[in-house]
Amino acid sequence: MPRSRPSSPARAEWRRFPAYTILISPTRYAHLPGACTHVEEDYVRAPRWGWIPDPAPGLWDRLSNSSPATATAGNTARTAIRRCEECQTTLS
Ligand SMILES: [Zn+2]
Repeated sequence: MPRSRPSSPARAEWRRFPAYTILISPTRYAHLPGACTHVEEDYVRAPRWGWIPDPAPGLWDRLSNSSPATATAGNTARTAIRRCEECQTTLS
C-alpha cells in the first residue's frame, strides 16, 4: 500500500491515517483525514473516535442513515450515518 497519495493543496498532511481512511466521530459523522476544518489529527483517538482504515470501494458514497458504516479500528462501536459536507466537497 502506498504510504501517501497525491493530495490537493486543501489537504493538510496527516501522519497516522491514509487519506482514504473513513473517520467516525462521536456524533456519527464520517470525515476524511485532512479534508475539512472540523477535525484535526490529534482529535481522532479511541475511545471517542472510530475509523475504517481500509473502507470498501464506494463505502463513503453509500453512507447514509439506511446504510451506516461501522468502525473497524479505534472504537469499533462507532457507526456513521452522515457524511461531513465539507469533506464531501473536498472529495468531489
Ligand atoms: Zn469533515
